[in-house]
Amino acid sequence: MSGNQTRLQAIDQITNRAPLSCNMTDPLKQIWATDVFNLQKMEDALSKKAFKAIKKTIESGEVLDAANADIVAAAMKDWALSKGAKFFSHVFYPMTNITAEKHDAFILTNSDGNAINEFTGTLLIKGEPDGSSFPNGSLRMTNAARGYTAWDPTSPVYIQHTANGATLMIPSVFMSWTGEALDKKIPLLRSNSAMNDAAQKVLKLMGDDEVAPLNSSCGPEQEYFLVDSNFANARPDLLLAGRTLFGAASAKGQQFDDHYFGAIPARVQVFMQDFEDKLYRLGIPAKTHHNEVAPGQFEIAPYYGAANVGADQQQLLMTVMKQTAAEHGFLCLLHEKPFAGVNGSGKHVNWSVGNSTQGNLLDPGKTPHDNLEFLLFCGAVIRGVHKYGPLLRAVIATASNDHRLGANEAPPAIMSVYLGDQLEKVFEQIKTGKLTGSTDGGEMDLGLDQILNFDRDPGDRNRTSPFAFTGNRFEFRAVGSSQSVSGPLVAMNTMLADSLNWIAEKLEVALATQDQTAAVITVLKELMELHGNAVFGGDGYSSDWHTAAVEERGLLNIPTTADALPHLMSADTVALFENTGVFSAVELESRYEVYAEQYNLTIEVESKLVSDIAKTKIYPAAITYLSELTHTSASVLDLGIELDTSVAKEIAEHVNCLLAAVTKIDSEVVKHDFADTEAHMRHSADVLLPLMAEARVHGDALEMLVADELWPLPKYAEMLFIK
Ligand code: ADP
Ligand code: MG
Repeated sequence: MSGNQTRLQAIDQITNRAPLSCNMTDPLKQIWATDVFNLQKMEDALSKKAFKAIKKTIESGEVLDAANADIVAAAMKDWALSKGAKFFSHVFYPMTNITAEKHDAFILTNSDGNAINEFTGTLLIKGEPDGSSFPNGSLRMTNAARGYTAWDPTSPVYIQHTANGATLMIPSVFMSWTGEALDKKIPLLRSNSAMNDAAQKVLKLMGDDEVAPLNSSCGPEQEYFLVDSNFANARPDLLLAGRTLFGAASAKGQQFDDHYFGAIPARVQVFMQDFEDKLYRLGIPAKTHHNEVAPGQFEIAPYYGAANVGADQQQLLMTVMKQTAAEHGFLCLLHEKPFAGVNGSGKHVNWSVGNSTQGNLLDPGKTPHDNLEFLLFCGAVIRGVHKYGPLLRAVIATASNDHRLGANEAPPAIMSVYLGDQLEKVFEQIKTGKLTGSTDGGEMDLGLDQILNFDRDPGDRNRTSPFAFTGNRFEFRAVGSSQSVSGPLVAMNTMLADSLNWIAEKLEVALATQDQTAAVITVLKELMELHGNAVFGGDGYSSDWHTAAVEERGLLNIPTTADALPHLMSADTVALFENTGVFSAVELESRYEVYAEQYNLTIEVESKLVSDIAKTKIYPAAITYLSELTHTSASVLDLGIELDTSVAKEIAEHVNCLLAAVTKIDSEVVKHDFADTEAHMRHSADVLLPLMAEARVHGDALEMLVADELWPLPKYAEMLFIK
């Protein structure tokens, strides 16, 4: 089928699609976590002794001995077989943002040739996938391929159902033979433990005798687009790059602000219910869903939980979302900017730290000025954002997120922290050396008898801040929608650990001569003098801020991934991670290499696609139409009438410019001989991306000129408004 036929047929198929019905009727109680081997199921399946042992491992990280591991493995296998599983798989999270699996059967043959179902503690604890198939940033030579996966008992195992049957999935870490982290889970676990060690010190200095282990929490809000598969199948750019590399703006986009929180299209509602039903069975507490700002864009936010489990669940959520969307005839796009000119997608990562004895340390209560522990933890975050702003920028740096950051829709590429009215005032007081009180939001009274009054929040929200306090947590708003949340969580936990260590040192000195309140003020006053410049409550999108942030406050504006990633290797970052034990310098360097390679590869693939689409789809359509126009003009001229040829001329000019840009792309994209990784990234950012943009200008102009029936690529107006 030729290009325009595919598009026209897609329109026909979508117009005549029969509505799917929704038959998810089982009550939540009946389906909740049925596919998860959680503590409750372990308690039912295990002896008291074995259950006690595994519970200790899960809750306080104690080592599980071999005998008990065998017992747990056997119970796990019986449960999995009862759910129809024939395979098990360690599931792990390599340095790319993907989830990886290696499947093995529960099978062993006896000496008499019979097959039995077998699964031991050893198999549960350790797996050995081929390490060389995953990016390692030169941590291992390709001939030294050994990589290990090891079960992480703190994240529950679960059953994954696919068309091929059921598999027992075992959340795992992934390391090299030499023990270096090759994944995103090991650093997350390490960062949590560094944060706990530092927090314990501060809380003990504050006189708390009983301090339970602290854990970080994560509540991710996932934005995504849905596009009908019929359209997606006619767009190689959507299929292979996850975003449109060409596409003229639709006359109607998001300018009416009529999509956010609007009625969800019926077809999407059915998808969401099916998807959430699957999440509930996997024990993922999907809570909120709604339309997002752009047409065709939606959000799902599960209820928050322990960061390590939350990160695993977030990966699983993305997988299940894509699978379920496909079953409903959609392509689910997690790319940060699938469509130019309408909002892109992010993943706000809500983050807090707490424990069972002190509660949430980022909860200010009603009167933050007398909640000293909160002030110390909040101050620690401010210092972290200031001192490690470039690191925060680096952990959200991808080729795809660059299209969204800095545009007037997403937090800027300058890291600052928003505190809200009430806290800003309290920290202003700290700067003066005296805590005098906390304002509150007062009561919301509309003066309507039938509407009940309620307490207003003590501060407003700020949509333009990359890092915002939102009542009892911080929200890292600049994270990209396709990303794993682990990198950002590692950065936040580690910067907090570093700041709390700094605070502990200062506090100990201050407490020797001052009472507790005075000592806390002394420490925080110094902290604000050094790091208060990161606090900003204004409009982060405004150009005034971009100038002031850099010129007056000394903050860095880091526009692209090519600028951001080198900060992973800066002296500050290396010291931070080495001092806290989260990464060795070698591990950091390997991450830098892997992320830089991902950046370059993404832009290389996109460049090739631009060239391919321009030459094999746009050019033929434009030339066909041009030929029609010129033939017609010639024939009409035979009649003695001169037709207006301006459109034909315009088309011819854009065709020439398009081909010129593509020829340059073709000669630039094959260059691979760069002095170092940074030079390669600069080439991607400074040469290839601008050429792609240039090709797009002419391709999109042609879309507005060539006859609609000849145009091969589904248009924005068709794809964005779901029928
Ligand atoms: P919004 O940011 O639009 O108000 P929600 O109220 O839905 O969105 O909350 C966003 C996310 O923050 C949810 O996943 C929620 O569970 C999570 N969240 C709430 N409290 C905390 C907390 N103390 N720590 C971490 N995440 C939290
Ligand atoms: Mg939010």
